[in-house]
This record gives sequence, C-alpha cells and structure tokens, in this order.
Amino acid sequence: MVDERQTQVLLSLRKITEDIAKLKNQTEIVDFLVKSIRQCTRADCCSLYLCDEQHKRYRLVATDGLLQAAVGKASLGLNEGLVGVVGQKKEILDLANAPSHPNFKYLPDVGEDEYHSFLGVPILNTGKLLGVLVVQSKEQKMFGQIEESFMVTICAQVAKVLAESHNKTDNSISTVIGLSGTGGIAIGKAMVWQPAVLIDKVKIIHCDDPSLQKELFLQTLFQLQIEMDKTALKMRENESEQAVNGFLSGYGSMLDDSSFSDEVVAYILKDGLLASSAIKRVYEHRYNEALSLGKKEESIEIRDFAQVLLSRLLHASTKEFDNVSNVILVVKTLSTTIVADLPKEKISGFVITDSDSSSSNAMILAKDLGIPVVAGASLNINTIDGRNLVINGKSAVILIDPPSSVLDEFSQLINQTKEQHDLYSKEICKPTITLDDKRITFKLNAGLNSKSDDEIENEVDGVGLYRTEIAFMLTQSFPLEQEQYEWYSSLLAKFRHKKVCMRTLDIGSDKGLSYFVNKEQNPALGLRGVRVTLDQPQILNTQLKAMLRANQDYGNLEIMLPMVSSLKEVISVKNTLKQMALEIEESTHKTVKMPSFGVTIEVPSIAYVIDDLQEHVDFFSIGSNDLVQYLLAVDRNNPLVNRFYNPFNSAVVRSLAYFKQKCDSFNKPISICGELAGNPMGLLLLLSLGFDNLSMNYSELARAKYITRRVSVEQLRKLGQEALKLSSSTQIKALYLDYAQANGLAKVIDVKAH
Ligand code: PEP
Ligand code: MG
Repeated sequence: MVDERQTQVLLSLRKITEDIAKLKNQTEIVDFLVKSIRQCTRADCCSLYLCDEQHKRYRLVATDGLLQAAVGKASLGLNEGLVGVVGQKKEILDLANAPSHPNFKYLPDVGEDEYHSFLGVPILNTGKLLGVLVVQSKEQKMFGQIEESFMVTICAQVAKVLAESHNKTDNSISTVIGLSGTGGIAIGKAMVWQPAVLIDKVKIIHCDDPSLQKELFLQTLFQLQIEMDKTALKMRENESEQAVNGFLSGYGSMLDDSSFSDEVVAYILKDGLLASSAIKRVYEHRYNEALSLGKKEESIEIRDFAQVLLSRLLHASTKEFDNVSNVILVVKTLSTTIVADLPKEKISGFVITDSDSSSSNAMILAKDLGIPVVAGASLNINTIDGRNLVINGKSAVILIDPPSSVLDEFSQLINQTKEQHDLYSKEICKPTITLDDKRITFKLNAGLNSKSDDEIENEVDGVGLYRTEIAFMLTQSFPLEQEQYEWYSSLLAKFRHKKVCMRTLDIGSDKGLSYFVNKEQNPALGLRGVRVTLDQPQILNTQLKAMLRANQDYGNLEIMLPMVSSLKEVISVKNTLKQMALEIEESTHKTVKMPSFGVTIEVPSIAYVIDDLQEHVDFFSIGSNDLVQYLLAVDRNNPLVNRFYNPFNSAVVRSLAYFKQKCDSFNKPISICGELAGNPMGLLLLLSLGFDNLSMNYSELARAKYITRRVSVEQLRKLGQEALKLSSSTQIKALYLDYAQANGLAKVIDVKAH
C-alpha cells in the first residue's frame, strides 16, 4: 500500500516538473503548481506564499482552496504565523492541529477557517528563501513522510523556476538574480542567441567529391584565421591587451592546432565525409575526451570552436546582428569564441542561463572589453527575447521590463560611473598617502594586461605580480630560454627604477597550456604551480636562467613561487636558483645579481610552516584569490558556490591578520597580490589589518588609490581590531560599509550594492 502510494507520488512528481517546464509566465506556473500539488497530496488546500523583499512580507501568490480574492492581497510579516516559522527556521512543519500552535495567526478574509492540518515547506534557491509552500486539510491529521518528502522534492525542483519569475516589487519590475557576474551596468533589449546551424544537429553524411570538401574546409580555416587577425588588431587598437591575449589563447590556439584540421581532413579523405560531418566527428571525440577528464572549460571551447567553423563553412554566420544595436545577448553558455566572434559594438551585455558552463576566460575577456556579464541566471529563454533588460554585473541582478523611470535612473548611473572613473584617473599619479600620512604602496598585477603606454611607470610603485604563465599560453610549445629572456628583459627595462616581482610558471587547474596536458580528476587540488615545475625541472631551470640573465642589466627582479605548500618545495627551488646562477657565472664570467626570493601564500598549510619558511625567503605575498578558495574549499570559478566565496568570512579575515602579524614578527615584508586589494571593500579590510603593500590589476588601480587618499589608517586599524572579534561576515562587512558611508565614500564603494 505504502509502495503503491509512493509510486503514485513519484509519477506525479515527474509529471508536474515536466509540465511546469512548458509554462511561460509566473501566474500560469504558480496556479498550476498549487492545483497539482493539492491533487497529489489529497489535501483540501494548497497555497504559495512568496517573499516580497521590498515590503519584508510573505505574499499569497496562488491558492487552490483559499479565497481567490485573497491572492496578491493577503500577506504575513516575515516572522508571522506558521508560514513565518517555516521561513525563519527554513524547516518543514507538519501539524495535525495548526490553530493550536502558539504561532498560528488567523488571517481574516482568506477562508481558511475550516482547515486543521498544516504542512509547510520552505522554497530555497542557492540557500536563499524564496517563499513557503503550504498544504492544509480539514481532517486533523499529520500529512506524514510520503507527503513531506514529495513536498520537499517538488520545492527543490521548482525553486529555480520560481527564482526566475520572482517579483521583487508590487506588480512592476521582475527581477532575476544570477549566481555571479562581472562588470558594471548595461541596458539593452534581450536577444536570445544561438547559432543558426547547431553542431549537435549535424548529420553524418558521405560525399562524392572529398577533394572539393577538403578544399572548402581549408578555405574556411584560412578565412577564419584572417578574421581572427583582424579582430586581434582591432582589440589592440583599443588598447585591450588583456582581451587580445584571452582571445588568442582560447580561440587562436585551437585554430593553430594543426592536429584538429589534420583530423578533419583525414575524415574527409579516408572516410569520404562531408566537411561539416568531419568537423562534427572531430568535435565529438575531443569534446567527450575533455569532459571525461573533467575539463569542462576546455570542452566548452572545443564545442564553440567547432560551431564557429561550421557556421563559417555553411555561410550561416552572424547576419542576425546586421540590424540590431545595443542588445543584451542571452546565451546558454559563454565561451571566449562567442565573446570574440560576435560584433562587440552591438552587444552591451551578456546573460548566461546555464548555471555551470561559462568559462572564466570568457568572463575575463568580457570584463576587459568592458561588457557586463550575469551568469547562472535562470531566465526562460522562450519568453525573454525582445524584452528590455537592465543588468548589473557587479550584483548579478537582471531587471526585466523595468518602467522608463527606472531605465532613466540606470542610464544616469552609467554616465555617473564614467564620470567617476575620470575622476579617479585624474589622481592616479599623485602619491598615495592616507589622511594620517601613511604611504601605501600600489603595484601592478601584470601578465594579462601589461598596458602599453610609458606613463604607467609613474602610476605604480612597481610590479607586484607578473603572471608568467600568460605568455606561455600564447605560444605553441614551451618557450626557449632566449625567448623568455627577451620577455623578461623588456618588462624589467620598462620598470627599470622599480621592483618587478615575477612569479614562476603557475599552470595547472584552470590555467592550462594546450601543449602540456595533464589528465586529472580534481585539477584544483592537483598538479599546479610549483608542483609542476618541480616535476619538470627543465621548465624551471630554463625559466630561472632566463630571469637571472634578464636581471643582469637591470637588477630590479624579484622571484616568487606559486602554490607552495611545504618547506621542501622552497628549498628545492632555491637550490635550483643557485645552481642556475652558477651556470651563468661559469659561462659569462660575470657575477650574477641574486634577486629577492619570495613565496605566495595561497595554500592554508603555510600558516603552520611559516616559521620555518621565513628563514629561507625574503618576502611573502598573499594570493588572496586562491587563499580564499583553499581556505573555504570553494572553487573560485564555480558560480554554484559563488555565495560561499567570501573574503569577509571571519576565517579569511583572521588568517589575513595572522599572516600579517607573523611576517611583522619576523620583520619580513608581506604584500597582497590577489583581486582582493583591487576591490574597494577588500581594500578597506586590508588597510585595517595593517597591509600597506598592495598589488592589483590596472583597471582597479585608480579607484583604489583615490579611496586610500581619503581614509585614515589609524581609524581603520581600530575597525580591524573589531572585525577580528566578530564571527559574522555580514557584521564584519557592515563595519567597513559604515566607515565608507561616514567618510564620504558611499558612492565610490557603492555601499548600496553590498
Ligand atoms: C591569487 O591566487 O590570488 C593569485 C594572485 O594568483 P592567481 O589568481 O594567478 O592564481
Ligand atoms: Mg593563485
């Protein structure tokens, strides 16, 4: 009997989720939901209450069993009634006699007088409460396990659908919150985009004339190469060095990979396939192989590359963009190829609907091009095309069809942002001294974004992090010593009067080289950074030698190791460094200038070995991006866990303070080279913990300096002491938000957005 009921419930569950996917608007969805749930649970009433964030209440949005007139009107405070109990505890509540519960609140005019039993379940999406689903019955009985489990499952399944259509204000703007984002605000019409001919739909067809097919394919490749060169040139003209590099590393390296084209040609000639079918064959096996190795990002790039080739081959290119402007492109997944290939001048923003399939390269590329992105947004692709959108990459918020007054407000904000940016830039060359006369050092994170103008040396105190792997990503094989020597020399020459900290090759995890592939199930915890170079001594030897040789003319080099987790690694690299210096001395008969030698703090184990390490190094630098990732066990590129990636988590704050205090006690310099220093709130946090040597991307530099010149370190240090006593990240953040507000920095820091 129980089994039979369970089977019935399971079947209903599947049917409800399938049917909901076909519905288009919120009213249809919620009405269908309450009707079908009431039937399936054999209850007398089913009602849905959604959180109305603006008015801080639950609002009845659909019911099958209460009075229809109450829909949209009846509401409860967030702590009121049994709905309030479920919402507050985020727990299921199953009662036989609801009116006897101390929190029961009688709502007049809804028609629930006859009901006794109550089963309420919270609806949660990525940890956030969206509302409460309730079933009620006239009979005094608890609903029991099968109904409870059904309700929990259905709530989990529909949470995303509801998140998508969740109304934020009365009956006006529909708001969708994505899982992550980059960039600022964009306004435009939604344009759902997918290629005209999908690679997955291509059929395998044999041809009569393989040599013609081969010719067609090779011509397509050639055309694509020319277009790519043109795009790269255009980006360079716009000074988007970072974009060019991202573009070339993703798209370009695949285009240059002759094994891809050789395989396609082999399928055409040997198996007699049409060129399109041959592309599909090669794509399929490479895509599946990348997926089986857990290389999701690479698999996206492969699919996209194959898609572009196919579109070019069939002349089904991007014509649909001919007559549009200012669109916000809504795509299932985003890859560098899409960002690089589509006409950027017509695209004001990107919305990615899949929750876990955007590549971080694509996000970096879009960021550098100044195009805001919101990722992991559960939008209904069937109903969004052509609607007006405002997206905010910073808070990952999307407004759908906002009224013109709201649109005007956002247009003004875009203009203000530009004005603000100009304001910060005016001060970029001024010395960065705080209100209480403390000099803060601002260095540059280079590698992706080595800005070309000569002014830059006056704007920064040196290079705090040169990511050498970026240059390696743009070559087809490991660069030889001479090539590396030239790269490093030109950087040391450019900053000849300042220190330049070069990090040894940090590849592995999300920073792959096409010519050095490791098969790993869990790459973030695998062969990364110094582990790779110790495994492959010839790579390390060549790199260190090239760096030392380049330093002979300038003497401003510092060398830093990434992903260090033990003393042994440091000693080993130091020995190699000495060995390489000896070899240079022997061959040139000149004394080698030994650079300062440091370690990046990004693996938490350093906390326990720092006393030993400090005897062997000259400085430390915190890689906050990875330190947060590893300390909190949160993949920094996974939007699904983005909300856990929080530098204001008390564990992160305390560990930052710990490392600073340790280094002070050894009298060893410590700097910060992760993204945290460039984030205005992160900057306040770091200054409050005593950090005074910060390195960041160029795009963040002017604002960070502007803020620093308007704060007092002494006052911030007091906040730092407070922060270390708190355990709630919200409270910690609030300290800095209040400070920003009280010191006229609310706009710069965008206090409202936090
Ligand atoms: C970091 O982890 O903070 C860092 C600077 O290194 P990357 O972002 O290159 O891993
Ligand atoms: Mg790192």
